[in-house]
Formats: sequence, structure tokens, C-alpha cells
Amino acid sequence: MSSCSICLLPKNYPAIVFDEKGVCNYCRYQAEETTKSVHACSAERRQVLREDLERTLRSTRGPKDYDVLIALSGGKDSTYLLHRIKKEYGLRILAVSVDTGFLSSVAIDNIKTIIQRIGVDHLFITPGSGFFLKLYRHFFNHKIGKDFVHSVCYACGCVIEAIAIKYALQWEIPLIIQGYARWQPDNIFYEMPRNEIVNRDYFIPTHKKEMLQGPFTERDLESVLPSPDISFMDNVPRVLCPLHVWDYSVEDIRRTLQAENLIVKSKSSTLKTNCLLNIPMLYLDYNINGYNPYIFELSCLIREGHVKKEEWKNKMAIGNFLFKTRIFSLPILKDIEKKLAISFDDILAIHKG
Ligand SMILES: [Zn+2]
Repeated sequence: MSSCSICLLPKNYPAIVFDEKGVCNYCRYQAEETTKSVHACSAERRQVLREDLERTLRSTRGPKDYDVLIALSGGKDSTYLLHRIKKEYGLRILAVSVDTGFLSSVAIDNIKTIIQRIGVDHLFITPGSGFFLKLYRHFFNHKIGKDFVHSVCYACGCVIEAIAIKYALQWEIPLIIQGYARWQPDNIFYEMPRNEIVNRDYFIPTHKKEMLQGPFTERDLESVLPSPDISFMDNVPRVLCPLHVWDYSVEDIRRTLQAENLIVKSKSSTLKTNCLLNIPMLYLDYNINGYNPYIFELSCLIREGHVKKEEWKNKMAIGNFLFKTRIFSLPILKDIEKKLAISFDDILAIHKG
């Protein structure tokens, strides 16, 4: 038995036990990791949140040019949200993408096509003074959390949230929509708490000290954080994640995007639109922990029927082989090492100890 016959969690996943049918304890009963997650949600509560979302999308109107800011990454989920919100709710949308320096060329192409076809205003934001280079270098060199996805990706995610809020305040936009899929990230479910926004408390507790005392100057932080005056403002935006509560399947999203000619099939794969730093993060995490750092989220999506197990079983097998051997990814890894002035093999050696 190399992985669970229902959800694909592998045999070396922490605290996993299989029964005689090859079904894992995470599937047999609600294991602690699942029930403790902020994403654990009853059908009744999800219905209440869905109604809140519907009311909000029907009634939100901004005092200036825009009603909603939508973060657009060039991947399937944020594109689907942009399309659906424009089509079904007719809100005045400002789409925003953050150029971290590591967007894939496919994602950048998708963004350009999507903006033109849907017909919305769009801002491409590039924070100055090498902010993201500093951030990535730091969180690769000082791993925080259970793997490099939690260290690097979560630090970056917090900053992108902060940037979206900064621009929403500047343009007086009362609502921000984020394209997070079900079960991600593991610190936000449906809505970012208002007190965290007002207190400028964007960074997850484990990362906060490093973010505030780490490699950044005050000017660096000012360039990405909303103004300290936010706690005195009465137009603080709400930040919502519709995919946490809407009913959908990955197949529905794919079909809609193809029918609307928004992302062509060859440019829709997560592997092609994801941030390029997934390549070193997956390489390090797979070789340190022996399993894919996204496997827990994937197992939840499979169990809930949002994605097909057979399709992902093959993708995982191929992916794991590639992370291990670095076939195809070596030139990209070398290029990223050069940009960040770090060595992934040195990092791997430290953590494999
Ligand atoms: Zn299972």
C-alpha cells in the first residue's frame, strides 16, 4: 500500500494508518488535522455564508469608480471568479495582479488575454526595491512552518493580501475577492477577519516576527502595507473567498473557461500557471519529507468530490518523479538560484541533515 485507495495520502504522511482495505484514518474518521482546520465547515454553515456572499455581491457599491477589487493570478480559479462576478452581478471591477518576478510566462499571457476578453480595468503592481527577492531569499534560508510551501508561499500570500487592501483603500473599493480554492490557504476561511485588517495584522503568527524584524527596512514594508491610519478609516474593505462556499468542481471551472474562450486548454494546467517558485519548493519539500506538500489539500478535494482521483494519481506519480530527479526543472532551478543568490542544494543538505 503506497497511498490511500480513496484520497491518495501516501504511506509516509504523518500519523497515517491504513485499514485492511487500504483506506486511511483521515478518510475513515475525521482526523485531527481535518477537524481542526479552519476549513472544516458544516453544510448549514456553508449555506449561511453562501447567502452572505450572494447578498454582498448583489448590494455592494463603491463610492468612486469601482465596487470590487479582484486579485487575478492568471490561473483558472481567479479567472473563473472574474468572469462569474462580471457576468452574474454586473459589478464595476478593478482586477489586480502582483508581479512578484516569478509569474510564469503562461500566467502573464493568460492575464493579458483574460483582461481583454472580459473587458475590465486592470493594474499590474510591481513593488519596488526588490521586495519580493528579499522575501523569498529570507524564507528559503529561514524555513518557518512544516515545509517550504508554508514558509515561502504563505509569507508571500500575506504580502499579496496586504497589497490588495492597500490598493482597495486607495481607490475606495469596499470589497476584495480572492481566488483561493477550497482548503487553501490554511489560515483563512471565507473571510479575512476585520480586526486583522484594521490592526494591519496580515502576517500569520508564525511568520510575523520574521516579517517585521527580518530583512526588510521600514520603507520596504511601507511599500506593501496599507497606511497605519487604516484603524481610523470607516471604509475598510471586506475580503472574501467565494470558492470556499460556492458549489463547484474543477471540471465545471475548466468547462466554463473553455466555453467562454478565456483560457485555452493548453494554458489552463496549474503546473503551467502556478508561481515558478513552486519548482524549488516542491523539489525541497519532496526530497526532505518524501511527499508532495500539497497532498493534504488535494486529499480533501478528492474526498469532497471536487477533483478526480484517477487523474491526480497519474499527475502525482509523474510529478514526484520529476521533483526527485529534476528532469526538465534544472535550468529553471539554476535561474531562480541566480536571481535569489541562494543554493537549493545547500538548503537541502541542511534540512536533510
Ligand atoms: Zn484516505
